[in-house]
Amino acid sequence: MSELSTSKRQFFKTLCACGTAVAAAAYSEMAYSAPGKKTTLTGQQALDLLKEGNAQFTADKPHPVIQGKERRLEIARGQTPIAVLVSCSDSRVPPELLFGRGLGELFIVRNAGNTVDTVAQGSIEYAVAELGVPLIVVMGHERCGAVDAAVSVVEKQTGFPGSIGQMVEPIIPAVLSARARLGNKKFTHDELLDASVRANVERVVNKLRGSQAMLLEPVRTKRLLVVGARYDLDDGRVEFFA
Ligand SMILES: [Zn+2]
Repeated sequence: MSELSTSKRQFFKTLCACGTAVAAAAYSEMAYSAPGKKTTLTGQQALDLLKEGNAQFTADKPHPVIQGKERRLEIARGQTPIAVLVSCSDSRVPPELLFGRGLGELFIVRNAGNTVDTVAQGSIEYAVAELGVPLIVVMGHERCGAVDAAVSVVEKQTGFPGSIGQMVEPIIPAVLSARARLGNKKFTHDELLDASVRANVERVVNKLRGSQAMLLEPVRTKRLLVVGARYDLDDGRVEFFA
């Protein structure tokens, strides 16, 4: 506890006062592992590194990632990630490999369809407020199964068992918005799917930029950059937009 800053102590006390002992204990452990060192990179510099790593990945000359014993020990007592990645759980979309990054460089929130619920939002806010991460990348990808499921709900009223329906639900507004954008012109399923992937990323980017006070201020003062991206499964390229 001696390493906690005043604001961390206050937050810790507030959590305890609320009786959420489990959350408080978890927060304490996370705070201990982050003794205050933060990246000196700006959001744009971090973004440039990701772009460079992806260019090497697509050229089939992947950037040598930082790993091994020395690096492990260097970051064992505190992490200094350069970016938060909100991306899909899809096994073909592993952020570290696509961007040539190694141990302790990316703070990753992954779920099918790269949406942000309360738990994901809290994870992101922690990364920005406590770890000083200057960049958030929300990354969708080509032929996303989760987005495809949402398209199927909208187009065919498909139902899904278990919790899959709830997982797909936050993506449905993106499909509706993509379909509205395509308008009356004839479009293929693949066109609607890809437009929905992009709309889903845009919705999450806008939510992160504007809806929460903990991110609003760093975005306003340009200490935090939030960008959208789409990964192409065929050529390996990450396109940044939004
Ligand atoms: Zn996906």
